[in-house]
Amino acid sequence: MDCVFCRIVAGEIPADILYQDEEVIAFRDINPVAPTHVVIIPKKHIPSLAHLPDAETPLIGHMAKIANQLAKEAGIFESGYRLAISCGEQGGQEVPHLHMHLVGGRQLSDTLG
Ligand code: AMP
Repeated sequence: MDCVFCRIVAGEIPADILYQDEEVIAFRDINPVAPTHVVIIPKKHIPSLAHLPDAETPLIGHMAKIANQLAKEAGIFESGYRLAISCGEQGGQEVPHLHMHLVGGRQLSDTLG
């Protein structure tokens, strides 16, 4: 499968990995939009949030928990941050592998999209 995030999971392309466990891996976004910009993904290939099986719903909670942990490590837990999941074409999703963005370290826009 030609999926850039699956290739990061497989260690086939380099990434600045900040966290991983059996289910997820988190790495710095290659094109950061803020001082902290981390991508948190399931290791298993799920094309988008819309493809998430009901039985896998707890995965999103786990990803959010890891995002909180990474926000603490980045020193932005108190100042604030944003979690975002782009889904599908009009949702602005570019990489077709479910992922959550953790963005912070500067004042973010009060609008989404
Ligand atoms: P989205 O637009 O929500 O699909 O976000 C995809 C994100 O993946 C973008 O912010 C990209 O900069 C990021 N990205 C794409 N390829 C890589 C890579 N090889 N390593 C790290 N981040 C990447």
